[in-house]
Amino acid sequence: SAELISGRELAAELREGTAARAARLAEAGRPPRLAVVWATDDGAAAWYVRSIAKAADKAGVGCELVELGASASADAVQARLAESGGDPSVHGVILQTPLPDGAEPDELAAVIPPDKDVDGANPLSLGRLAAGLPAFAPATAAAVLALLDHHGVALAGRHAVVVGRSTVVGKPAAHLLLDRDATVTVAHSRTADLAAVTRTAEVLVVAAGRPGLITPDHVRPGAVVVDVGTNPTPDGGLVGDVAPEAAERAGALTPVPGGVGPVTTALLLRHTVIAAER
Ligand code: NAD
Repeated sequence: SAELISGRELAAELREGTAARAARLAEAGRPPRLAVVWATDDGAAAWYVRSIAKAADKAGVGCELVELGASASADAVQARLAESGGDPSVHGVILQTPLPDGAEPDELAAVIPPDKDVDGANPLSLGRLAAGLPAFAPATAAAVLALLDHHGVALAGRHAVVVGRSTVVGKPAAHLLLDRDATVTVAHSRTADLAAVTRTAEVLVVAAGRPGLITPDHVRPGAVVVDVGTNPTPDGGLVGDVAPEAAERAGALTPVPGGVGPVTTALLLRHTVIAAER
């Protein structure tokens, strides 16, 4: 059975480092501060925002929750993002999804200044990432790489398959893997024979949001599998995109919950401290 790549240990390690750096910034009179803008009554989003606030508190990073309510207009959300973006005491700005009906995520996020775009939501950030220029990567994609590094997984020259091509996870993860000299294939909902593609992966990153999508048949024996999926279950739990039986073929696997999620939150705070140090 696969070795578990826990995210909790790495998240705690990251948090310690972030807390030390946040304390130094506070001593210098520049306490790091993050603004989270959200306009939804989605329960999962509320849970996630609260978890960011809790983690920020533990790391000594100020966290301003800007709750606009589900009836807020896209214009109001954009105006609030611009306000936080222009506030010199705020170093990181996050736009939490889902967004109000009719809102264009790219248009809204385009007002987040790239130097405060700690979740890589501004299309400029993804463009810079793709061009190999310094930029904040979306925290989830960065978490995938951080977990692989923490576990000592070699990437150069190896075949990595990313399932999912979203702007927030799949595409940036593929670019980060490319930057590390992996040979990268991106699969998605229109991929003809998904199992045939994923079976060639030495490193398999799954971000589809489809519980049970990856069966043992999709996994090359011994592969390192990073499960980004977070799918709520009827009993209030959370499962990934990788079926439990697939663990029998994988060499190593990130659990859900407790894998990518905690590292994502830890990296949002790390990015905020980096932004504040600049
Ligand atoms: P998305 O819906 O924007 O994109 C899903 C992608 O998966 C699409 O590119 C689609 O082509 C692909 N896909 C869908 N069905 C497929 C199939 N049957 N076969 C192959 N590919 C398929 O989702 P997203 O925002 O990229 O998120 C993906 C998952 O990651 C979700 O479960 C989400 O909740 C989770 N997520 C987790 C974190 C975290 O911190 N752990 C953060 C962000 C997203």
